Amino acid sequence: MEKYARLRHRMASELPAVVMAEAPSATDGELALAHSPGYISAVVCGELPAVAMREIGFPWSLEMVERSRRSAGATIAAARIALGLHEGAPGKPEGVAANMAGGTHHASADKGGGYCVFNDAAVAARLMQAEWARRHGRQRPALKVAIIDLDVHQGNGTADIFRDDASVFTLSMHGKNNFPFRKALSDLDIDLPDRCNDHDYLQALQHALAVMDQRFQPGLVIYLAGADPFKGDRLGRLSLSFEGLEARERQVFDWAWQRRIPLAMAMAGGYGVNIDETVQVQMNTYKVALAYWQQWQYITA
Ligand SMILES: [Zn+2]
Repeated sequence: MEKYARLRHRMASELPAVVMAEAPSATDGELALAHSPGYISAVVCGELPAVAMREIGFPWSLEMVERSRRSAGATIAAARIALGLHEGAPGKPEGVAANMAGGTHHASADKGGGYCVFNDAAVAARLMQAEWARRHGRQRPALKVAIIDLDVHQGNGTADIFRDDASVFTLSMHGKNNFPFRKALSDLDIDLPDRCNDHDYLQALQHALAVMDQRFQPGLVIYLAGADPFKGDRLGRLSLSFEGLEARERQVFDWAWQRRIPLAMAMAGGYGVNIDETVQVQMNTYKVALAYWQQWQYITA
């Protein structure tokens, strides 16, 4: 948990161009776009069975509920801003925006797991589709969303939620031997071997993006920039360096930029033996994100 505070602190002092805002709280109605009403009310009222709480991994508290709501709310806000659907926006996409937490991709429609209560990317994807339709009506085609999940753990909850939904493409690139041990079926899964290095990882990513290009043209990307493929991660089994992870971010952001696809980012996992290394990986991610946000400002000014 400490990494979130450290990231925020370093962002404020080292990247003053980043505009920070308080995370709004997702409503029950918003959460219900991706979760069953029974699951939402059981979480909110603290009525999940003990075994379901154990799978989530946190003890229940009112603060835990509020934090989970805000974690989803921040990804919603980031997606809105990236698309230019936020209040007061003249429809101009900012192009890039981010949640400084989120990426809770192990949560599926009616259960949580692996420290994930609500699936922020899934809720944001569905809500943006609805808001996009309301804003543009029939003048524009329906919004298609790609969820690019590069956390070291598979986005099994996200894959489950969108299994039969052709309007959202789920791409997960993860450690084959990392949690979850029984994988779900994403639209595109790339399993990586233990100790996968920068070179092999970046090549696999290039391949994955090329495969997606053949099959899907999104109008919004939600990117889970997990820091846990880092070699110093306690939970990840891959061996990426700081430079490799920064190159990964440039690859993703450049891919989206070349196609002028707005991108909302969530930070997802990161469990460094040394917590400052995790925060360093995330700072590097933000530096790349900021550079691409600046590029967007030139074209839409
Ligand atoms: Zn992870």
